[in-house]
Amino acid sequence: MKPAVRIRTKWLAAGIAVAGLVVVLFAFDPKTHPFFPACLFHRLTGWHCPGCGATRAAHELLHGNFAAAFRDNALLVCGVVGAAGLLPVRWLRRRGGQTLGWQLRPEWLWLMLAGLIIFGVGRNLPAGDWLAP
Ligand SMILES: [Zn+2]
Repeated sequence: MKPAVRIRTKWLAAGIAVAGLVVVLFAFDPKTHPFFPACLFHRLTGWHCPGCGATRAAHELLHGNFAAAFRDNALLVCGVVGAAGLLPVRWLRRRGGQTLGWQLRPEWLWLMLAGLIIFGVGRNLPAGDWLAP
C-alpha cells in the first residue's frame, strides 16, 4: 500500500469516527443520558477543568443553542467559532493556488495553552464562576 493511500485511509477512519461522535452527540443529550463519561478531574477535585461542560456545549451547538453552549463551555464555543472562521480562509487560499501565509507556529500554541490555563483557573474563581458549567 502506498503511503498516500494509508494517509487517506486514516483520514477516512478519523472522519467516520468524528461523524459517529457527532451523531451520538446530536441524538443524546449529555444532561439526561448518563452513558457520557464524567470528568475525572472534577470528580476528584470538585473543580472545573477547561473541558468541563464541553460535551454538553457540543450537544447544544449541534442544536443551534449558542447561548446554552456558551454557558456550558465558553472556550469550546470560541474555539469552534475561531476554527470555523479560519477554515474558509485556508480553503480559499489553497484553491487560489496561494501558499497559506500563516502556519501554526509555536508562539500560537503557547498562546492557546495560556488561554486554556487562564480559562481553567478563571472558571474556578469566584469572579469567574459565570464561566463554570
Ligand atoms: Zn472537567
